[in-house]
Amino acid sequence: MEPDSNLILPNIKLLTFAELQAFLHQHGEAAYRAEQIWHWLYDKWINDFDEMRNLPTALRQTLQAEFRAFSLRVKDKQSATDGTVKWLCELGDGLCVETVLIRSGKRNTVCISTQVGCQVRCVFCASGKNGLKRNLQSCEIIDQVLLACQCLQEKVSNIVVMGMGEPLHNLENLLPALELLCSAEAFGLSARNITISTSGIVPGIKKLAELQRPWNLAISLHATNEEQRRQLIPDAQRYPIEEILAACQYHSQRCNRMPTLEYALLQGFNDSAQDAARLARLAKKLHAKINLIPCNPGPSKHRAPTFSHCQRFQELLRQAGAKATLRVRKGDSIQAACGQLQERNQ
Ligand code: SF4
Repeated sequence: MEPDSNLILPNIKLLTFAELQAFLHQHGEAAYRAEQIWHWLYDKWINDFDEMRNLPTALRQTLQAEFRAFSLRVKDKQSATDGTVKWLCELGDGLCVETVLIRSGKRNTVCISTQVGCQVRCVFCASGKNGLKRNLQSCEIIDQVLLACQCLQEKVSNIVVMGMGEPLHNLENLLPALELLCSAEAFGLSARNITISTSGIVPGIKKLAELQRPWNLAISLHATNEEQRRQLIPDAQRYPIEEILAACQYHSQRCNRMPTLEYALLQGFNDSAQDAARLARLAKKLHAKINLIPCNPGPSKHRAPTFSHCQRFQELLRQAGAKATLRVRKGDSIQAACGQLQERNQ
């Protein structure tokens, strides 16, 4: 199928505010028009320049001819009974990513993708099954957040960068996207309401630390020794646990945020009392909290332990003095849970 010609134009969200002002100046427009355009894009989440009602028709036509206002086309939308929504979003070149909205009380969290596919290829994850196709552009990352706002008709309260892809392999586009989403003049979300999840890419964690932004960091650890972790993450993309923890410690010192250790509980693999003791030791050393995730059905043979076993594992962590939460599974009826997102563009 031919890509939509409108999607070939550059997305206006690739411009900084100053670049937008310069564009308007070149076209003989007043500088305040830039504020009006940003308001429509980031406060009203509009998809079409024609909806920018306070702009003159000629300016709307110029914008229409030069840019597109939105980079995604929803190809499929699924809703689960627990309120979780999953979109299959088609990009300008016909590739697809998935985006998930998770509702919990007053909290509306959007889980966004940063890559089409993933080169890390964790064995339990559908996103990495076919390797990496390409990085998302910053506007394609931002538009997933705005898509969730359009659906809710309100601003999302939290963003988790935990969808398809390894975010720290695409910092080049993720960083400008997050800066814009946190900018008071644009989307204006508190940096503390954003969590970046990584499989443990050490140079990327150090880079984030040096930026000193208060974004939260979650490390997908899933194993407490090298031998165990080797069975989950192929060699090429796996950093030693000690190095990951040292980078994580550096990040929490520089950014003053408590890290989270994500731990997918895999039946008979990493759910023993000895695993719990080792995990508690690592978390306490790092002053990290632990998020236990009963493994979601995915491409590997691994399955989750029973819920009561997960609760016992959590209790062992607590008895050992570690802070641990057990994630309630959301969206697994529509394959929207961790490790289940995939390209699905057929
Ligand atoms: S879990 Fe994350 S890092 Fe691992 S393959 Fe999936 S998307 Fe990539």
